[in-house]
Amino acid sequence: MNKATVFSIKRFAVHDGDGIRTTLFLKGCPLRCRWCHNPEGLSSKPALAYFPDKCINCGACVQACPAAAHQIDKDGRHVYLREKCVACGKCEAVCLGNALTFYGRIMTVDEVLPLLLEDKDFYGDTGGVTLSGGECLVFPDFCLELAKRLLDFGVKTNIDTSGAVPYGAIKPLLPYVDTFLYDIKAIDNDVHIHCTGASNRQILENIKRLCDDGARVEVRVPYVPDFNDNQIEKIADFLSALPITAVRVLPYHNLSGSKYAALGMAIKPPERPPTHEEIEAAKDTFKTYGIKVL
Ligand code: SF4
Ligand code: SF4
Repeated sequence: MNKATVFSIKRFAVHDGDGIRTTLFLKGCPLRCRWCHNPEGLSSKPALAYFPDKCINCGACVQACPAAAHQIDKDGRHVYLREKCVACGKCEAVCLGNALTFYGRIMTVDEVLPLLLEDKDFYGDTGGVTLSGGECLVFPDFCLELAKRLLDFGVKTNIDTSGAVPYGAIKPLLPYVDTFLYDIKAIDNDVHIHCTGASNRQILENIKRLCDDGARVEVRVPYVPDFNDNQIEKIADFLSALPITAVRVLPYHNLSGSKYAALGMAIKPPERPPTHEEIEAAKDTFKTYGIKVL
């Protein structure tokens, strides 16, 4: 039975492909984008996020934790000792202040499938399920089995991917996937490495192969000022040669800072979101190259 590490299920999603969708987020990603807005999806390991501003010092977690990672100090204040945590997830359920969120449950396809089928009546002809992350294709066999099983129920699957996986993880999905939502972040490899920690060669090669194999591909371009804003024209030029369905420009937002801190990650995401004018200019660039913009 194929398994994956699940960190979230988002229902009634309207930006993860056509129609109304339920999005399943799988944990683990080969990239380290400097602007990642789902830092809880980066590591494949389960992890506890602690939001101290929500803690009401009730102490319920102290009793629940088998590893003594939660303590109440002599002043009655809660202290979380991350280094002691063994990621069992037991404290989340007892937290009265909603200060603890556990990310990462290892689940089988049999366990996930009924959760996704709960929303089947809302999917209609255009909606369905989107598999996202992290990078969902770090679990290729799980995604393949799940997409096949969903199709047995008449539910379409989209794959939201960075493309930073071997093509062998993608190709078997082609008969079972409606649309690939494919991220392109930069064309210049040095810029891509600076922004994500990894080369883009495999990513650019994979999208060409997907298009050659007749897949329906919608491209997502994150727009992050001072990181990849000088890549928009180059991305438009690259995509203009491919039979993609459309491009969606995703404005960076800086709302994830507290999540990084809650996960104990000493990473400071970029501060400046793009202006409305910058996003409109990026969209116009794609249109100039004859590309449909969503
Ligand atoms: S996840 Fe488990 S080990 Fe970690 S703090 Fe919570 S109860 Fe303790
Ligand atoms: S259970 Fe939640 S609110 Fe209570 S002390 Fe622990 S972290 Fe704080």
